[in-house]
Amino acid sequence: MKVLKFGGTSLAHADAMHRIVGIVVREGGTRIVVASALAGVTDALLGAAARAREDAASGAQTLDDLLARHQLIAEGIRHPALRRDTLAALDSIAGSTRAALDAIGASRGTVVPPAAIDGMLAAGELWSSRLLAALLQDAGLAVRWIDARDVIRTDGRHQSAAPDIEAIRRRVDRVLYPALSSGHIVVLGGFIGSGPDGATTTLGRGGSDYSATLLGESLRADEIQIWTDVDGVFTADPRLFPQARTIERLSYAEAHDLATFGAKVLHPSTILPAARRNIPIRVLNSRQPAARGTLIAPADGSSNDSPLTAATYRPSIALLEIVPRTRATLPRLPRLPRLVDELARRDAQVVLAEGSEERIAVALTSVGDLQVISAAARPYGDVTVRGGLAIVCAVGGGWRVENGPACSLRALLDDIPVHLVSRPSLTAPFAVVVDEQDAIAATARLHDGWRSQHLRAAVAG
Ligand code: ASP
Ligand code: MG
Repeated sequence: MKVLKFGGTSLAHADAMHRIVGIVVREGGTRIVVASALAGVTDALLGAAARAREDAASGAQTLDDLLARHQLIAEGIRHPALRRDTLAALDSIAGSTRAALDAIGASRGTVVPPAAIDGMLAAGELWSSRLLAALLQDAGLAVRWIDARDVIRTDGRHQSAAPDIEAIRRRVDRVLYPALSSGHIVVLGGFIGSGPDGATTTLGRGGSDYSATLLGESLRADEIQIWTDVDGVFTADPRLFPQARTIERLSYAEAHDLATFGAKVLHPSTILPAARRNIPIRVLNSRQPAARGTLIAPADGSSNDSPLTAATYRPSIALLEIVPRTRATLPRLPRLPRLVDELARRDAQVVLAEGSEERIAVALTSVGDLQVISAAARPYGDVTVRGGLAIVCAVGGGWRVENGPACSLRALLDDIPVHLVSRPSLTAPFAVVVDEQDAIAATARLHDGWRSQHLRAAVAG
């Protein structure tokens, strides 16, 4: 049994969708197909939601345009009854999305209600999955479309819901298994789910990957395929670093680190469900289906010949430094979890933390208000906070064994100012905090420098 997930760029237009139909046909066997929204649709829906209060007409126009884009593809369905049903389904999704848009337009207060935003965003995956299911059926396959909100149960937190694994497993047994065992290919939208009260929730941007591995976990799938528009996972972002190469094999831990520290190929939580059941993930290119892509699987101990697996960076980072006023307020590391929770409540996710007797430094994603964030840390000591930073990270297994490599990696950065060097444990990746403007140069130096023979020799020696 396989789960096949297709990203938005693999579903951008009619030709791309027909390519996907070809891939699903060729794979054979028991298949679950998870679809992202068509390329650009989620962004467009978010834009419409953001404008809903001041310019309702433009939001409504966006919805009409998006519907038309899907209708155009549906017009190509050959079987008349299927075409008619599909067009009606697309239209009804647009209807509930208009209602969500109107609710946002009529809402008051400082923030747009997140529940209504989730209600709107769902349209992207509902449209794409309906359409893909119809195209597969049109190609002669036995297909069952299932509303993902009936399966992916969550804690109800809007826009970044956490899955309820037990509830998902029960829903998979009730809803998915019967369809699969009657020989159908099941198609559903990624990214969306529902909370305990039944309200639509989403798993965070890029969350369709996560939907795919959650389903793979519950179904105990043999393999999860993530189909994208590049040849797998690269040693660095191929759009910025032309010297980057495809990585053939990655451990779960490496893939998780890469996603956490900014690599955009996978949603950061994606790896966990697959790792819990040792299910291999293949990252494949829908434009080059024959290419090998990247296999993400349990570590096989063979990665040591390439000590650095990949380099990546994550922008929009802030650094919080706390210097205790007296020994009594010394923010010892055991007290860090409380601080991390307090920061999370202010929308600041801690990505790295380092502590010593003299100072504690915390790197966080700076979506929240920096003043509010520093106020949260004030009980621990004197606080300074700065934004406009990036985390640059080198992921790989080989250099972990000795102390030398971290120093070598630091040396590669040479004159680039570094605000924090982190290696909290032997198994954690090497990460530094630098100014955002230096992030690309620093990533390139780690990526290229580490690969040079000279450094490998230095580390081995
Ligand atoms: N459509 C959603 C997004 O753009 C989810 C996904 O593509 O995985 O974030
Ligand atoms: Mg994605």
